[in-house]
Amino acid sequence: MLKLGKTIQDTKTVVEIMFFDIDGLTWCAPHKVEFVIEKSMFASGGFRKAYKAKSEHTDVKNKIWVVKKYLQNSLDIINATEQSTEQHTRKIVQTHMLVRNMAAKLDQEIQEKSIQEYGETFHYKQIYLGHIKSTNEMITVEEYISGQFKKYVNNDGQCLNFNDDMPICQKAESFMHHSYERSNCELLVVDIQGCEYCLCDPEIASKSLDYDNEYLFTTGNLFTTGNLSSTAIENFRESHECNKYCRGVHNDFVWGGV
Ligand SMILES: [Zn+2]
Repeated sequence: MLKLGKTIQDTKTVVEIMFFDIDGLTWCAPHKVEFVIEKSMFASGGFRKAYKAKSEHTDVKNKIWVVKKYLQNSLDIINATEQSTEQHTRKIVQTHMLVRNMAAKLDQEIQEKSIQEYGETFHYKQIYLGHIKSTNEMITVEEYISGQFKKYVNNDGQCLNFNDDMPICQKAESFMHHSYERSNCELLVVDIQGCEYCLCDPEIASKSLDYDNEYLFTTGNLFTTGNLSSTAIENFRESHECNKYCRGVHNDFVWGGV
């Protein structure tokens, strides 16, 4: 048999990626990164489809990445609103980074208080906003999470308990409680999901969409949950009973005003 003497080159896609700095609430300047994006998606949700990707670029090499693109139906829904696809995608990244920061602060608090019995804490991985100029697609680029995917809290604030994952489910509720308390009852993390303690695709239910404090980003109307927000917060307030993970962190907690 003849060898063709050629290696098949992976097709590279140039993506302009942007990082959101949660401390300064600013976007960094975009820079171009070449990714090899797999042709077949490995997962699809109700709104977006996910492709594995890799890159040799210094900033992102030696990791598996996930490129998430909108389903056509989702683009139609976004286009029917007053938002652009870019605005919507920016919100996804900002929400992820805000929740990532909340999880990091909860972890920090647990470490500072030396609450050994809390055990492992939740974390979120890196995410970038991405634009594929050649196809004019807005995407997110996120670190790949391996393992069995589970949803612990729905976007309406309902907790889905698994007997075999009881500590994680209780910690998910504790994390909701933490987000609600530390934001002075303005925000509630929902859609808590991922593989074990590594989470992804969070949503935030907000009491109001126009409040002005450290959580408000420059675009205004930050969060995507809309009418679900009040339902989620009501569900949480009505059904949440503090567990040992709440009590370990929130010794002095008193419910805030409605
Ligand atoms: Zn609680």
